[in-house]
Amino acid sequence: MLDKKVAELLNQQVNKEFYSAYLYLDFSNYYFDEGLDGFGNWYRIQAQEERDHAMLFIQYLQNNGEKVSLEAIDRPGIELTNAKVVLEEGLKHEQYVTSLIHTIYDAAYSVKDFRTMQFLDWFVKEQGEEETNADNLVKKFELFGDDPKSLYMLDNELGARVYSAPSLTL
Ligand code: MG
Repeated sequence: MLDKKVAELLNQQVNKEFYSAYLYLDFSNYYFDEGLDGFGNWYRIQAQEERDHAMLFIQYLQNNGEKVSLEAIDRPGIELTNAKVVLEEGLKHEQYVTSLIHTIYDAAYSVKDFRTMQFLDWFVKEQGEEETNADNLVKKFELFGDDPKSLYMLDNELGARVYSAPSLTL
């Protein structure tokens, strides 16, 4: 059995990850509507990854004999005004998710729940990568977004991203 607070936070994280998937699907739809299919592809894959994260939290709870309760997922609440704003919101969102992971880690640490800490280690690393990726997208857009030819090439680059399952298995 997990500590009550730790279990509660892990359960909430299931919802947060599904919300991230929903948010990034909204980003993806925005870009497809704008004709930036590569960006759309990149965020559609990002949405798949977030769903994978949710499933990992579910699996971890179940492996520890905890009941999973699925809550309603909020509608994506970010106004997508232009292609660059979307990327900036993506970075902000990842920074927020990092803070959530750290909060759960902190709760696990305070009750000496080493197993949950080890489980979360993968997510701590993953969040570092997610923030770097999101930051790189913002920087690339700042450099190339205003030039149509460069934007076309950047869009092609992002269109080449393919889905791969998470490296963490439980
Ligand atoms: Mg995630």
